Amino acid sequence: MQKLVIATRNKGKIVEIQHALADFDWEIIGLADTAISPDFDVEEPAMTMEGNAIIKAITYGDKTGLLTLSEDAGLEVDALNGRPGVFSARYAPGTDADRYNKLLGELTGVLSENRGAQFRAVIAIYDPISKKIRTCEGIYRGSIIDEPRGTEGFGFDPVFYNSELKKTNAEMSIAEKTLVSHRGKALKQAREILVQDFS
Ligand code: IMP
Repeated sequence: MQKLVIATRNKGKIVEIQHALADFDWEIIGLADTAISPDFDVEEPAMTMEGNAIIKAITYGDKTGLLTLSEDAGLEVDALNGRPGVFSARYAPGTDADRYNKLLGELTGVLSENRGAQFRAVIAIYDPISKKIRTCEGIYRGSIIDEPRGTEGFGFDPVFYNSELKKTNAEMSIAEKTLVSHRGKALKQAREILVQDFS
């Protein structure tokens, strides 16, 4: 069976990626199932999510010798000209709550009609034998509410509101979030790429 390494240590992402690929006829393994030390981490020096996704896929793929899928994602807030974007994970030190509370602070006084935002996810898939690399992207629009709601998900999920479902991401099950999210959309394309270009 074809093996695929999911190159992330973010538990929230791993759960969502494994859910989206659960019916896939491949052996999906995490970094913990490889010989890579848990202390090894890849810097994210690029100014774009695509750049970071590619760097992570090549680094982990060459280290394991296995087909590797990596993902870089972030939140782009309209009123902040797309910030924090590629720097979302480093937007503030501390916990996810520290980061979304900083965001709520930056948006104090911004009217609800101007609180639009989007999540972007870029996936890179890399084969260390053929050196072939492919990327794809998913975008998910919503808005930033002024108080956190819900306990599911991770990162900025409690403050990201989906007006069609009338829920924040943190009020959705993994299945519901995957149907609408940036990551779910990118993974849908990734499945096609895996079958077409890496089987
Ligand atoms: P990365 O690990 O560099 O891709 O960082 C992504 C960061 O963007 C995370 O640490 C979160 O803060 C944020 N983020 C990305 N995707 C999501 C999501 O699905 N929900 C909530 N926050 C997300």
